[in-house]
Amino acid sequence: MVEIGQVLLAAPRSFCAGVDRAIEIVEILLEQHGAPVYVRHQIVHNDHVVKRLEGLGAVFVDHEDDIPAGAICVLSAHGVAPSVRTNCESRGLRVVDAVCPLVSKVHAEARRYADSGHLVALVGHPEHVEVIGTRGERPEATVVIESPEDAAKLDSGGKPIAVVTQTTLSLDDVAETVDALAERFGDLKRPAADDICYATQNRQDAVKELAKRGATLILVIGSEASSNAIRLVEVAQRHGATALLIDGESGIDPELLEGHETVGVTAGASTPEELVALVLRGLAAFGFDELGEVEVARENVSFRLPREVTAPA
Ligand code: SF4
Repeated sequence: MVEIGQVLLAAPRSFCAGVDRAIEIVEILLEQHGAPVYVRHQIVHNDHVVKRLEGLGAVFVDHEDDIPAGAICVLSAHGVAPSVRTNCESRGLRVVDAVCPLVSKVHAEARRYADSGHLVALVGHPEHVEVIGTRGERPEATVVIESPEDAAKLDSGGKPIAVVTQTTLSLDDVAETVDALAERFGDLKRPAADDICYATQNRQDAVKELAKRGATLILVIGSEASSNAIRLVEVAQRHGATALLIDGESGIDPELLEGHETVGVTAGASTPEELVALVLRGLAAFGFDELGEVEVARENVSFRLPREVTAPA
């Protein structure tokens, strides 16, 4: 059955400044040094990006021990624990830091709070690579909290509590958990509004607006490993839409479109814009060919490239 309907496209969507920078670093290193360029962990959590860079000569490894001594080791946008940097140094690797500056800012806060006697409550998913990296700054003074239930059980050992968060969680995502901490411990050092990643917040706000403007089905383009894309699915569901994570146009199921007049489309911060174009083409083929954009913010953020690529030795 052919459906007829409209598509609302979220803005902002797709790459954020941290992802743009990380990918550009790998591309420049490949140009400057040729293949292979080793990258510790997926540079950003998107399978298409990783495959494209592999085609250019990037080699992705799970651990720095898998990189030959003396080779370049790019650290992914998600950040690493200091112990990883130490291990890279001791193995004689040439480290190039593609860690997003906003993640580095959270690392600095975790260090500062821990060193001033606080217990750092790190709100995030314990298995996520970014959280593992942040916790690694001061593991003895950091506890990962995933839910209000975790907050209710926390033993502070009499220390004051300071809260830092995984960057792919918005203020809305962490509010309940932070409130539960405040209820238990009273005074807290809370994450400042400007600590929350602008890209996470904007992409979530845009999804809310899609639901508000009548999108009853919202397709979020992103890979399963992408925490921020999964959060966009959850935000859409919380705001009353049916929502689905798809990796590209092959994820459009015509049966799913049935009964929907307005379909929202967005893409996680690590999803290339080319995939959005392909998904829009796929939707048009099913009769969803009236396109409108819902813009909630304009982004003009960019981060400086590291010295290793702007002034190579
Ligand atoms: Fe940096 Fe935010 Fe992008 Fe993560 S989502 S890489 S914190 S700009």
